[in-house]
Amino acid sequence: MAIRKIREFGDNVLRKQCKEVKEVTGRIRTLVEDMIDTMYENNGVGLAAPQVGVIKRIVVIDVGEGPIIMINPKILETGGEQFGTEGCLSLAGKMAYVRRPNYVKACAYDLDMNYYEIEGEELLARAICHELDHLDGVLYIDRKESELMDSNYAVEEEE
Ligand code: ZN
Repeated sequence: MAIRKIREFGDNVLRKQCKEVKEVTGRIRTLVEDMIDTMYENNGVGLAAPQVGVIKRIVVIDVGEGPIIMINPKILETGGEQFGTEGCLSLAGKMAYVRRPNYVKACAYDLDMNYYEIEGEELLARAICHELDHLDGVLYIDRKESELMDSNYAVEEEE
């Protein structure tokens, strides 16, 4: 288990166009394991490789139903709309209102480079959109429709 340092807003790595993964090497397996550990350690619902400084098209997501590993993911279909607050581990303690589709169908490869498709609604749809944006250097604050707000208070209340 290894926790990696999360790159924060202002770090150029978060604005890069990430590269496709051609082969899952041992290094990539370790990266994915570390990304999952890092996501859980920080109580996140998702993490993208550039957030740990790696410019590759890999994201991990867990909305409470176990980890989902997405290599070279693509959105195939979207539907509906949701409007709610969103945060990011690269902008700790902040949140803003962002409009996202309420339904997303995406495809990706798993760690064995097997193709699969996944459908998600609500939080999972939001997480897929948010994490896939990271792979193109897009942050939720680029899409926000409200002021950036402090989420510290709510987080401290829970703890
Ligand atoms: Zn994020």
